[in-house]
Amino acid sequence: MTRPPVKALFWDIGGVLLSNGWDRDQRKEVVTEFGLDADDFQERHKLIVPELELGRLTLDDYLNQTVFCRPVEFDKAAFVAAMEAQSVPDEAALKLLQHLAGSWRMYALNNESRELNAHRRRTFSLDGPLLAFFTSCYLGLAKPNPAIYRLALDLAGVQPGQAVMIDDRLQNVEAARSVGMQAIQFKDAAQLQAELEELGVRA
Ligand SMILES: [Mg+2]
Repeated sequence: MTRPPVKALFWDIGGVLLSNGWDRDQRKEVVTEFGLDADDFQERHKLIVPELELGRLTLDDYLNQTVFCRPVEFDKAAFVAAMEAQSVPDEAALKLLQHLAGSWRMYALNNESRELNAHRRRTFSLDGPLLAFFTSCYLGLAKPNPAIYRLALDLAGVQPGQAVMIDDRLQNVEAARSVGMQAIQFKDAAQLQAELEELGVRA
């Protein structure tokens, strides 16, 4: 069976272009830095974080329930700054993104809270190469729900087979394939570039 030519690329951000925003490792680091009770924080986080990533809860309300639910000796701004400092770029992946931007339609398709997504878009100039952000906090849906892939394809006006999803998590890659997208599991920029070239995607 011949594959339709690729028209658009959909990028995950955490674990691909940047470090994860607020995943296990980032939380562990900040929880240790601020001397929080890790188990209590984790329980509280687990209960409320889906609402944060689906855009139905502000970061302020999230922090009120998970961190500032008892007296602490630091302020919210310091804690948010530490959260934001966890976002670091994968320079090689960002370079590849910039390199492809002139030739390809590219979009973000990622799970993130509104506040962290805004910080990451701004800090790492993602709005240049990425034409739109199909992010869980804006769409009210999250990967790996197949519905978010279908919605992103509809909004971008791209047929599933003409789209390539790039994601570091296997379950998200499998979900993209389940709706008919082509998909690459990201390991590093060199592997991604090679696999994209096999699909005819080069700058
Ligand atoms: Mg990821």
